Amino acid sequence: MPAVRDVAVLSVATFPARHGFSTTELGSMGLTQAPDAAAVMERRRQLAEAVGFDLNRAAFAEQVHGAAVHAFRRAEGVPGGQTVRRTDVLTSDVPGQALLTFHADCYPLLVVDPARGAVGSAHAGWRGTLDRAGEALVLAMREAYGSRPEELEVLVGPGICGECYEVGPEVVAAFRERLPEADRSLRPRGGRAALDLACALKLQLERAGVAPDHVTDLAACTREDARWFSHRGGRSGRFLAAIVVP
Ligand SMILES: [Zn+2]
Repeated sequence: MPAVRDVAVLSVATFPARHGFSTTELGSMGLTQAPDAAAVMERRRQLAEAVGFDLNRAAFAEQVHGAAVHAFRRAEGVPGGQTVRRTDVLTSDVPGQALLTFHADCYPLLVVDPARGAVGSAHAGWRGTLDRAGEALVLAMREAYGSRPEELEVLVGPGICGECYEVGPEVVAAFRERLPEADRSLRPRGGRAALDLACALKLQLERAGVAPDHVTDLAACTREDARWFSHRGGRSGRFLAAIVVP
């Protein structure tokens, strides 16, 4: 467990890019079904202030549980930031640009290429992991910015842990059929299995060329830890993962 700054916005002191994960203390960041949209926007403003980015220029992923990549590049801002449609993986090399993804059990992956001043961000639940979102993130950095995978630094944010995340036979079958890392990520429980998404994602990163000692895992379980919104844990709402181009 790395050293963290534990406030309403959590971050890892050693990670070489500005970033943060909003906690339940700050409140839900999702606008869908929010009773008070203005309150949500105020929380997003507080997150932007805590992490240090311009909310009006921020890019929010409209996630669809896939691994489609969008290299975000747009200079002018709009009030409250902009939504990038149908993507779970965002990248940017525009200085000061913030990338944001929404979470409640699904994992945030944050990546930075310190040499090239580029960052990326992914949202990965079981569908995204099955679509190899971890590899897609690394490939996107390589293709868009010429990043060398072994120079990337990756932070695995809060998500549901391998003990807490039980999946049914159809998910187990899909993983076994499509992912080489399935055996190391699944532990059978009757006809079902406990699925360790963080393990699967880290194996994907490794296979894509990221050095294992360049991967920091927050090892924070959203279901067990009341600081996080969690679908399975019954804390409805969304937290945001943010990363800013240096
Ligand atoms: Zn757990």
